[in-house]
Amino acid sequence: MDSTGERYTMNHAFEMGPIRPPSEAYSILLRITRNCPWNRCAFCSTYRDTEFSRRAVDEVRRDIDNMHAIALRLAEASTELGLGGRMSEEALTKARDDDPTPESYYRQVAFWMNYGMQTAFLQDANSLIMKTADLVEILRHLRARFPFIERVTSYARAKTVSKKTGDELRELREAGLSRLHIGMESGCDSVLELISKGVTPDEQILAGRKVMEAGFDLSEYYMPGIGGTEHSRENAVESARVLSAIDPTFIRLRSTVPLPGTPLYDLMARNEWTPLSEDGKVREIRLFIERLGDITGTIVSDHMMNLLEDVEGTLPGDRARLLETIDRYLGMSDDDRESFIIGRRLGIYRLLSDFSPDGRVEAVKEDLKRRFGSIDAAVLELLKNFI
Ligand code: SF4
Repeated sequence: MDSTGERYTMNHAFEMGPIRPPSEAYSILLRITRNCPWNRCAFCSTYRDTEFSRRAVDEVRRDIDNMHAIALRLAEASTELGLGGRMSEEALTKARDDDPTPESYYRQVAFWMNYGMQTAFLQDANSLIMKTADLVEILRHLRARFPFIERVTSYARAKTVSKKTGDELRELREAGLSRLHIGMESGCDSVLELISKGVTPDEQILAGRKVMEAGFDLSEYYMPGIGGTEHSRENAVESARVLSAIDPTFIRLRSTVPLPGTPLYDLMARNEWTPLSEDGKVREIRLFIERLGDITGTIVSDHMMNLLEDVEGTLPGDRARLLETIDRYLGMSDDDRESFIIGRRLGIYRLLSDFSPDGRVEAVKEDLKRRFGSIDAAVLELLKNFI
């Protein structure tokens, strides 16, 4: 039964897309477009062989209503069981009652409720491609149903954002969209061309500044190693230049791993792009941090593709500590660096400060070197299977 005492006659399923940023692990996922309207970035396999489409506003509103109906049922069940709003298996079973909605949707909402229902993430790859008026309507409906949500986040392409007016961005901000994630990847013109990013460094700066001026939190992604050995230096220096001109709230590091089935992998197979070693990516990050200007954003290393998760901190105060961490790694013996790389990839070490000799690591390291010829070749294999 629902809160008005009526029996359910409809399914309360809602649509979900494939990915979200790691920082949105506790968010409810609301899909407003499907797949990626660009879908050409050479390193990206997420939406390969899929077609982009916009969802109708009414359809998205219905999804929000369905999430709301499930949340009400779960809250009622929890209260009736004396759990004070907390979720349990019993509450979940009781809440579903005669609702034909598959259990997985109840689990999604229950998980969100257990984590406070404070954040929502709009899927898929570029929500800002929606007409501003449509997106505003969706955001207002989300806020009407869940007025306590504190943060609504979305991915956006810099090119799309650069075409929005300041007034449009402010309208979206006022309607409740509060954080944007933009995949800059590189600030270097030739690298952007190489990876078919479809945006120039100037457009990235324009988009980033507009977003910051409209009052959003902005995450910009930088990919150490995306220029290969051929463009590593420019990738660091030019990316630092573009991000210094934007001064985003967060700079998120995503070290490059060429994935089978992507154009980048094919470039590598044809010897037209040479992957950086693990040490090479660390050196590139060092140069990047050194070259960042007088900015105040936070560098975040929140992805398992990055080797040094400890390279996190807020500028300008933490710059010296970040460089010291990198230098500590680069100052280790070749043997210890190899052991750290393998231990990190096996999940035995998370931080550089976790490093200490470990027999399990040594055994695997020797075996991998024998099988793949080098630690870097082994890591490429390990990582492509992780993602
Ligand atoms: S814009 Fe984003 S999702 Fe689309 S192809 Fe590029 S990296 Fe992938």
